[in-house]
Amino acid sequence: MKHYPVNVIDFQDMFPTEKACESYLTAVRWPEGFVCPRCMHTENWELGSSLLRCKKCRRDVSLTAGTIFQDSHLPLRLWFQALWYVVCQKQGVSALALKSILGLGSYETAWTQLHKLRRAMVRPGRDRLSGIVEVDEILVERDEERCCRPYK
Ligand SMILES: [Zn+2]
Repeated sequence: MKHYPVNVIDFQDMFPTEKACESYLTAVRWPEGFVCPRCMHTENWELGSSLLRCKKCRRDVSLTAGTIFQDSHLPLRLWFQALWYVVCQKQGVSALALKSILGLGSYETAWTQLHKLRRAMVRPGRDRLSGIVEVDEILVERDEERCCRPYK
């Protein structure tokens, strides 16, 4: 499985349909195949587009349970497009821009989606950068007073 699109054409090729997004999410959630969270059984029935039932204990398992997509009424494809847009914008994204680019019906939906994405991009307890750190671009803002002084 290809892990990540390298440009927008690649993105469109990887995720042309809701089913393609579901397949990708399935592969990411269960890289070795489905595993029931209750009994660890590995066989399942597909009940719907994103709902699986364990063949042993009959627990229903949603593909999106425990993810940022859980309880969302938005299609996965729209979520994937939002993800792609947010990670590609170096200057950051506003909820208004997300609403516009995705054609969402309300600002509140865009705001909620954006905040879920932002929370998901932060890994609590992450390690600080150390050693040699390479960046391809950086924006440093300096206040007016410091701009007049020689930089030390
Ligand atoms: Zn089970």
